[in-house]
Amino acid sequence: MSSNPDQRDVILPGATLGVMGGGQLGRMFVHAAQAMGYRTAVLDADPDSPAGCVSHAHIRTGYLDEAGLAELARVSAAVTTEFENVPAAALEQLAASRPVAPAGSAVAVCQDRAREKAHFVGCGVDCAPHALIETPAQLAAVTDELLPGILKTARLGYDGKGQIRVKTRAELEAAWAELQHVACVLEKMLPLAYEVSVIVARGRDGQVVHFPLQQNLHRDGILAVTQVPAPNVTEAVSQQAYEAAHRIAASLDYVGVLCVEFFVLTDGRIVANEMAPRPHNSGHHTIDACDVSQFELQVRAMTGLPLVEPVLHSPCVMLNLLGDLWFPLQAGVRAAAQREPDWAAVLALSGTHLHLYGKTEARVGRKMGHLTITGATPAAARETALKAAAILGISPF
Ligand code: ATP
Ligand code: MG
Repeated sequence: MSSNPDQRDVILPGATLGVMGGGQLGRMFVHAAQAMGYRTAVLDADPDSPAGCVSHAHIRTGYLDEAGLAELARVSAAVTTEFENVPAAALEQLAASRPVAPAGSAVAVCQDRAREKAHFVGCGVDCAPHALIETPAQLAAVTDELLPGILKTARLGYDGKGQIRVKTRAELEAAWAELQHVACVLEKMLPLAYEVSVIVARGRDGQVVHFPLQQNLHRDGILAVTQVPAPNVTEAVSQQAYEAAHRIAASLDYVGVLCVEFFVLTDGRIVANEMAPRPHNSGHHTIDACDVSQFELQVRAMTGLPLVEPVLHSPCVMLNLLGDLWFPLQAGVRAAAQREPDWAAVLALSGTHLHLYGKTEARVGRKMGHLTITGATPAAARETALKAAAILGISPF
């Protein structure tokens, strides 16, 4: 595909780029956009939002506020999103007057687990055996083959929230009641060997590039550690994941950065788990370990600038810094008083890159920042990462 888009269609530095959502992903997008000379506007109701605090403009309204959306459209040359639960209707309203990338129609597929899975299957990409549960009749029709399984709300789940593991039919019924009988997907529990993700960026001209595959370790349903290169994944499995992610992005006619999470099963097969229509936590290392970050590619895709195939210049490990670290465990009991982790000790290790999101309050399970550790070799990065983890009170991996 052409890597020289027509200059007339390109939104050049100096213009203002808008972003729906003010979380850490928006903050890192703002950093990347500003580094390239763009101005930024963030729409988020929270006056202390991580992205709002660093943006040229911060529109403090809800996602469906007519005046807020009109203001964002007025000041922005193009708009993107950092949060997949931005109502698709809001993106469609913006799209009436400005380029919006990704489009509301693509975000809508990612917002709904049932539609997402149907999309994977339509692209010829395997996913976990599953059933949609919206009615008591659908619940009754569930086959034993899906048990043990995980009942997941079809919408608004994240970081393992809105999910209940069930072994029996009785547990399934109780779990659906606990989830207030909202639309759910029951997924068969699969034997996972590893979890991996692929981040792609797709331009307006259809060009698709991808980052090297990430291997991800989750703890309590929350991403804890990402390693690149993936230590346990064969080239054949990586290629399958890249091809699947490219197909998924192309068939959504996607513009922007998209992450697809996969399970590698104990028999070596891979199945798609879910996707995110934005940069992803498993791609934060790209800021420090790649020659172009996922956030810069988000800027390039939405402005029509050329995409380039990212190169990992340093093997790395990314450790998520959850609010737990501010309340250390002492003899198995969580401290009541908050303390600041020992950043100086961590930064004394060479190859450590600290990112904190400026959140004012630490809470257990809250993503406060991340630490990327680069090294000359994967073993060196891992060794330093284990030292940093020990200092911070993160369990070894
Ligand atoms: P995210 O923060 O990534 O959006 P989420 O809340 O949407 O998370 P999932 O990715 O669906 O949740 O699941 C969270 C974790 O639970 C997975 O990373 C995996 O470890 C485990 N898990 C989910 N589905 C299955 C399954 N079908 N079989 C085995 N383990 C699973
Ligand atoms: Mg997930």
